[in-house]
Amino acid sequence: MPFYEFTICTNKSEELIDITREVEEIVAQSKIKNGIVHIFIPHATAGIILNESADPNIKTDFLNALEKAIPKRANYLHDHIDRNAAAHIRSAIVGSSLTIPLRNGEMVLGTWQSIMFCEFDGPRRNRRVIVQIIEDLKQT
Ligand code: ZN
Repeated sequence: MPFYEFTICTNKSEELIDITREVEEIVAQSKIKNGIVHIFIPHATAGIILNESADPNIKTDFLNALEKAIPKRANYLHDHIDRNAAAHIRSAIVGSSLTIPLRNGEMVLGTWQSIMFCEFDGPRRNRRVIVQIIEDLKQT
């Protein structure tokens, strides 16, 4: 099973970064046409989602909604250690992986679905994104 990894730099304490193109390039490079693309984020204060990237307001709305649901400051116990408990909770709720069907060399994404890395405790220099592609040998 091919294993790929790339890193991204984040610029803000919280932001969503569209990484669809990077993942598409890895899929093309793999030459695998059918199967499953698995994307994993090995960080406890970041995450990954599928959602609209065309209208940047969605990113802002998403981050604002998370701020309401999980405020940055709320007397968290972990904040006595490194003041990023909200980032850990957001990461856990958003999730650390995505699984996307691959058909005829293309990821089967909805028209408005983009792959977005979620930074919750930035800026960071070396956020890792791991991509594995599981080939469906019966389809090729
Ligand atoms: Zn922490």
